[in-house]
Amino acid sequence: MEKPAFLDRDRPDVPGLVVPGGVTPFYLAGRPVRGRLIRLGVLADAMLTRHDNPAQVTALAGKALALVAALASALKFQGSFSLQIKGDGPVSMLVADCTHDGALRFYARTDEPALEALLASNPSPTDRELVGNGYMALTVDQGPDMERHQGIVEIAGNDLAAMATHYFATSEQHACWIMLACKMTDAGWRSGALVLERIAGQGGTADTDTPVQDTTTQGDSSWETATILATTLTVGELLDDALPAPQLLHRLFHEEDLHVSHARALAFGCRCSRARLVDVLKRFPEDDLDHMCVDNNTIVMTCEFCNKDFHFPRKDIASAAG
Ligand SMILES: [Zn+2]
Repeated sequence: MEKPAFLDRDRPDVPGLVVPGGVTPFYLAGRPVRGRLIRLGVLADAMLTRHDNPAQVTALAGKALALVAALASALKFQGSFSLQIKGDGPVSMLVADCTHDGALRFYARTDEPALEALLASNPSPTDRELVGNGYMALTVDQGPDMERHQGIVEIAGNDLAAMATHYFATSEQHACWIMLACKMTDAGWRSGALVLERIAGQGGTADTDTPVQDTTTQGDSSWETATILATTLTVGELLDDALPAPQLLHRLFHEEDLHVSHARALAFGCRCSRARLVDVLKRFPEDDLDHMCVDNNTIVMTCEFCNKDFHFPRKDIASAAG
């Protein structure tokens, strides 16, 4: 039997990289504005190049990673925060998630003929042209004992930042300003995000412990000022490894009583395991398991997130499906 192509691929090991300053939270004292600056640094290149996607899809995936890192780091939860986009475009499914401690992973499922056709006629498609029409869901999953919190909206806007902004405006009724970028640089793929959130009825602290009245006119004008300043950030600055996060934030917000909080780490993290995959295999009938065998009576399963192959001797898997 000929070896399937996916077994031949020469892939690097799953990266064990941790980027210590991946998330930099900040707030503008006395204003109803808080935010996070996200920079994946070398992690972007290590994660994105594990997947054999065209550059246009890689850029979209990198932005999705920066987005989930930005959104997850704003929440208090234990578990995973995920973004799922399912549309009728050539990227039929895009999933990215981030745990409470900053472990990221993603996968993009593509319809290859449709993607080739799109890129042949349009080499620089928008995010929207890649994903098409469909829905976008954000989910907080805190394990089997806790209720899942999920919000779903229709895909709206031309790029991922606009889609996420639309989500917050409609589903969470919460003003957000979002910039996302992912590009191949001289140092490899880099990805980052700047997210501002308007905090209702309070402000001035990183947390909720010292509420400050957000008299609306004052609050509106502070929010507007912050978003105007944020708009001056360039993609080059956002993705520049040599420009430290506090310095970048200072450039933008130094006149707005900027307070930079402790940075948090980001890392690659997948929750796949041999035990979990064995549980999946056991759900198939014996016949199906026989058909899955490749060389030497081995079943190979590939985790879509880490693009890693797991080999199981057929004799070790006993079907629970009969
Ligand atoms: Zn995995």
